[in-house]
Order: sequence, then C-alpha cells, then structure tokens
Amino acid sequence: MKREGQIKVDSENLFPIIKKWLYSDKDIFLREIVANACDAIKKFQSLCLIGEAEEDGSAPRIDITLNKAEKTLTVTDNGIGMTEDEVEKYITQIAFSGAQEFLDKYKDQTDADAGIIGHFGLGFYSAYMVSENVEIETLSYQKGAKPVHWESDGSHTYEIEDGTKDTRGTSIIMHISEDGKEFLDEYKLRSILRKYCHFMPFEIYFTVADDKKDDTADEKDDQPKEIKPVNNISPLWLKAPKDCTTEEYEDFYRETFTDMNLPLFWIHLNVDYPFRLKGILYFPKQTDKLQVMPGEIKLYANQVYIADNIKEVVPEFLMLLKGVIDCPDLPLNVSRSFLQNDSEVAKISKHITKKVADKLTSVFKNERKSYESYWDDISPFIKFGCIKDEKFYDRVKDIILYKSINGDYKTFGELPKQNDKVYYASSTDVQAQYIKMFKDNGLDAIILEHNIDTHFVTFLEYKESGTKFVRIDAEVGEALRSDEQKEQTEGDDKIAEIFKSALGMEKLTVVTEALKTTDTPAILTINEYERRMSDMQRIYGNMFGETNKASETLIVNTNNEIVKKLENLEEDKRNLLCRHIFDLAVLSQRRLTAAELEGFVERSVKVMELL
Ligand code: ADP
Repeated sequence: MKREGQIKVDSENLFPIIKKWLYSDKDIFLREIVANACDAIKKFQSLCLIGEAEEDGSAPRIDITLNKAEKTLTVTDNGIGMTEDEVEKYITQIAFSGAQEFLDKYKDQTDADAGIIGHFGLGFYSAYMVSENVEIETLSYQKGAKPVHWESDGSHTYEIEDGTKDTRGTSIIMHISEDGKEFLDEYKLRSILRKYCHFMPFEIYFTVADDKKDDTADEKDDQPKEIKPVNNISPLWLKAPKDCTTEEYEDFYRETFTDMNLPLFWIHLNVDYPFRLKGILYFPKQTDKLQVMPGEIKLYANQVYIADNIKEVVPEFLMLLKGVIDCPDLPLNVSRSFLQNDSEVAKISKHITKKVADKLTSVFKNERKSYESYWDDISPFIKFGCIKDEKFYDRVKDIILYKSINGDYKTFGELPKQNDKVYYASSTDVQAQYIKMFKDNGLDAIILEHNIDTHFVTFLEYKESGTKFVRIDAEVGEALRSDEQKEQTEGDDKIAEIFKSALGMEKLTVVTEALKTTDTPAILTINEYERRMSDMQRIYGNMFGETNKASETLIVNTNNEIVKKLENLEEDKRNLLCRHIFDLAVLSQRRLTAAELEGFVERSVKVMELL
C-alpha cells in the first residue's frame, strides 16, 4: 500500500536553496552517500559484536552502479538497513528538520560554507544536487523486517510503500537530473571516487551497467569480469609503524600522490591521547634546489576524505610535506569557520608539530649517519618551520645541521667560529676562491645555499644573540688576517692610496691587511647586511624601493710579492696592475658583467705586453 507524507518543513523552497548553497561543490554528494553506506555497515558490525544482530557470512561491501541508459546512479550497501519507522524518522523527520535548521540559520547569508551542510544532517539530501528524484530501497537487519521503498523528487512530499529488496541493506537510487548529467560519466565518477572514497573502510565496487547489450555479443564477453574494489580498505597509516616496511611506505606514497620521485623520509603519526590521530607525513624529494615546492596534506575522518591542506589542522609549514592525516574525532564535514573556532583543532595542530620534532630528534640520536644523508633535502622544510613557529625551533634547534665546506655536518654547538662569527658560503661555485682560501688557511665555514637561508640566518641571529653570521666574502680580512699582528705602517697607507687613485672608484673602500695567504694580492668583500637587504629585494621584488648595491671593500694583501713591488713601478704600469688585481678580486667574488669582461680582456693583453 502506498502511503504519502508531507515533509515537515515550513519552507517550500528548501531544495532550490540547498542546491544553490552546494552548487560550488557538487562532487561531495557521492562521498556523503557512500559514507552513509559505510556507517550503515559499521553499525551492523557493531550490533553483531554485541550479539544484537546475526552475521550471515556476507562480506561487507558497497556497490556503485552507473546506468547511463536509465540515467541512474545507485549506491547499495549490505549494512544495517532501515525499517519503515526508521526511514520516516531518519530520512524524513530528522534530516528535514536539520535542513530547516540550516535554512533558518543561513538563509540571509550568501557565502555560507558548503562544508557546513553535514552538521545539519543533510548528507543524504546532497543527492538532490545532482538528482531530480531519489529512491531508497531498504531492508532492515531486524528479524521479520519488511522491505521499504521511499521516493521523493525533492519537493516537500514523498511516498513510502512496501519495497522489494530481499537482502539486508540499503540502495540509494539517484535519478540524475539534466544539470547533473556530468555525473553520468564513468571517468568523472571514477575520479570522484578516487578523491573522496579511496581509503574508505569497506570494499567499494564500481560497475557500469551494460546498456547496449545485444544478442550478437560474443559468448566470451559474457564471462563475469573479475572486478576489483576501487578503494584500499586498509591504508598504511592504520598499520602499526613497527610493522611497516620501507617498500610499503614508498608504494603508499606513489599510490596516493602522483610523484615520480620517491620520498626521502617519512614520519608515521600514531596518537591515541588526548585525541585519536593517525597519519604519515612524507618529506618529498626537492627537484628545485632553491625553491620549496608546495605540498599536499590530505585530511580524513575515519578513512573518509575531508579536504586537502586544511591549515587549521596541519601547521602551515608542514603543508610543504605530502601526507595523510586521519582524525576520527573531526566531523566529516568540516567547515573552515568551525575549525578556526575550535580549540581541539588548535591542539591537534600543536601536537602534530611536537610529534614531528620528536621523530626527527630520535632519528638524529639513533641514526645520525642516515639523518645526515638526507639533511640537505629536508633542511628547507625544517628551517621554514623554525621561522614560522618558534616553538618548533626550540624543539629542533639542537638537531639542525650545518654542512661545512669540508663536507661534514655540525650542530649549532659544534659550529666553527672565529670571534663569535660563523662564516658561510652561499654558493660553492661563485665563492669557490674564498672557500679555497679558507681551506688553505685551515679555516672552516659552512654552506648555506638555499633561498630560505637568507631568512634563516637573520632568524638565527635573533634567536641566538651573540653569534653573527657573515658570508665568506664579507669581513673576510679578519678571518684570514695573519697571526703576527703587524702595525699599520705609512707604507700600507700609501698602497691603499695607490689603489684608490688607480681605480678611481669613489664608492669602493680600499684597506690593506697582512693576510695569512701570500698568493692572493687582493680580495673583495661586500657588506653583509647591505647584501642581505639586496638579496631580500631580489627574492621579493623591489618592494623597498630602489635596490642599493651593497658596498664593497677591496682588501689589499701587504704580504703579497706583487703588492710589495707596486710602489716602485712607474705610474702607467702601476695603474694597469692595480686594475688587473682588482679585476681578479672581482672575478673571484662574482661573475663579471659584459662591460667588465671586455675591460678585463683588454687589460689582460696589456699586462702580457709588459713581458
Ligand atoms: P547523517 O549521516 O549526518 O546523520 P544523513 O542525512 O546523511 O545525515 O542521514 C540521515 C540518517 O539516515 C542517518 O543518520 C542514518 O540513520 C540514515 N541513513 C542514511 N543512509 C543510510 C544507509 N545507507 N543505511 C542505513 N541508514 C541510513
């Protein structure tokens, strides 16, 4: 017997409004329906566990069938099912009152977050975003239950009658509407399933009903096809970390993120208290040596995909990683505004940061060699994290490594210092001459080549006051100064004067220094802070106005034989040699401009003519 009912809402315009709210994110309807199917199976399993229901040997499964000819998409589960009373209660009363509540609250807003829908028990009704009519065929697990058929076109009436379903569970039959017709495309559906249902906890089978079956079809085609579930019901993050192999971590990475490169290192999170959280965070291989590429953190609640890159849950700096986080305590439909105001969520974020620091510390302590082997690749993430979150810095500061020009790795405490100064090279190519000078004189320096290091050095000086970082081509005279302190003599002043007048460069400072090395006639240094400023300008564009060139100082080495001879040369030759010495100093510091190179070649010929 057919029974008709009035859906208990005041507004007759409910569905147009819901459709409008949800318009931007239609794809989620399938997640909502399949997640309900999972819940129904879970409920059945729980009832079996407590002896309230009886197992019948059928494996839990969800079938999604696309029938293009009939324009239907059907989701069938073998879960708990519903009795007629339950359909009335859960589908027509509770869900609609949820919808009403939603409307009352948001009808005046035009920018409500579509994600909020789930808070109001509207999951099932999201089917109307893509359907003109939805049917439910259901059979409850209860002994003697009768099958029920429910149907509504999304207006405020529905029909309920005896159904035909003869196996336990529920089928949701969605008659896809004209403006939802993209959801009749097999590949579109497969991609939605991959995104939203890939790790759901029960096997999901997707089939396309054969709508053009003809009698001439080859016999062989009638063989049942071996179909495989579209999802992975036991994603690796659920397994105990101690039972996971490297291969499994790598396979899972490839399966989840389309990345040709293997990850370098990963952290398996497994938290039970104060909240439940599981996940795997991968440090991806960096293909660009200077820039950090954006990452991808997928958030799940009980294996149901929620969203990517939710910055309220995952600390911002960890967004550079690739990973999955499953937090069953989060509501399925998280809206941004909910997350921002939730103190639990802030705790989750802090806890993830702590876990990452703990894991890095334990690898550093127990496997320092392998930690060193991937340090170069993971360091940009860690340094970025330190700058973004000082608490994180405090946790990891003792395990941040600095690579020395000799190739070994040192912690902050082990850094080579000269008078509280740490020398660093920002390019082993361009500063090769300076590095060689350091090495020849038994001095050490560290290598900081990444773009992030420009900020990181400034950050370190702020956190670790008392230590100054100077690039290997700044203030280098001090580090290389000969140990036997020589008083500045009049002769030294004269040499400086000779250079100044030969070069005629007003902005250049010329000083003399008795350097340890005797081979090098002069070195050029650039002011550390001015250079950092112009580096920043280079990275961020010119937001501070005109770029000022950092000031340069030429250090003339009074221990060098050529320099010693200059004074007694005739003026022409002296000037020529001064220019040439300057060119060589510039050449060791940076690449010459086209004009400088031209002058250099010309003068080189003249220097040779002196022979
Ligand atoms: P929510 O899942 O947030 O409670 P929904 O609108 O998605 O809201 O569903 C309303 C209710 O309908 C569910 O709580 C459940 O009791 C019932 N329901 C929906 N889908 C199924 C299903 N496949 N099997 C059994 N019950 C279902």
